[in-house]
Amino acid sequence: MPSHPLSDGIAFVRGDYVPIAEAAIPITDWGFLRSDATYDVVTVWEGAFFRLDEHLERFMHSCERFRLDPGLTPAQIEGVLAECVRRSGLRSSYVEMIVTRGQPPWGSRDPRQAVNRFYAFAVPFVWIANEAQRERGLHVKVSAVQRIPASSVDPRAKNYHWNDLTMGLLVALDDGADTVVLSDAQGNVVEGPGFNIFCIKDGALVTPREGVLEGISRRTVIEIAASLGLPVALRALPAEELRGADEAFLTSSGGGVLPVTRVDDRVVGTGRPGPVTQRLLATYWDWHRDPAYSRAIDYGQS
Ligand code: PLP
Repeated sequence: MPSHPLSDGIAFVRGDYVPIAEAAIPITDWGFLRSDATYDVVTVWEGAFFRLDEHLERFMHSCERFRLDPGLTPAQIEGVLAECVRRSGLRSSYVEMIVTRGQPPWGSRDPRQAVNRFYAFAVPFVWIANEAQRERGLHVKVSAVQRIPASSVDPRAKNYHWNDLTMGLLVALDDGADTVVLSDAQGNVVEGPGFNIFCIKDGALVTPREGVLEGISRRTVIEIAASLGLPVALRALPAEELRGADEAFLTSSGGGVLPVTRVDDRVVGTGRPGPVTQRLLATYWDWHRDPAYSRAIDYGQS
């Protein structure tokens, strides 16, 4: 069957829907020049958004935190996102909404004078770990690079301040690891490029409370754990405790629950994705079929 002609993705730019390869922003937009933007990513799985209301709520909060105005209501944003997906025909999609600072009048350096810009796009679903990595579990390196402190950039407002994550990731990949997790100034692990982290010891889950984006997948796992009667502690997670855990996993919209089987030179648990992780992972995908969390997209004639 020929692939859908727009299935590489569709973007919403200055009021128009365009093929993803044609989507562009002005080079003078501070979103580009200064990483001055906020964004959110919601996924579409089997033709339905997963937890869209939670993503929209977090996005509006991020906008408020950074004094950015999307110029659209959450309902209007939902309409744009659904239209990007509908036009692409994608049944599994990675859907991003962005507000950039835009640009103040020429010569002005006052961000209050900038006209903020809203952009969005839908592209094929993005996995932050490939199939082989998900099967055997990821090898994670704890980076020497410290995560930007929350007092400098609020990590609860989703942002593009990724230089620390990217530099840490480059070293981890050079060293043969699959990905990286950064720590705070006290040596507690916080988060990595696009994910939160959990460990499990004696049947109880731990995930960092501070210094992290409050991931929607993290929240989903916390709710799943509650439904399964598993205790969850939100607190500081020292790197050494992570290395000595029975099980560990990452959470991200880019793949849900992603098992971790090695941290630095230490094998985690048995070296295979653990039973509690597997149960959380299976339930995570089961919840995608629950109308309490998913909203079907009307693809019409696409
Ligand atoms: N932490 C960071 C820095 C992220 O960029 C992301 C997602 O992109 C996450 C955590 C996970 O958040 P979510 O589960 O909402 O995808």
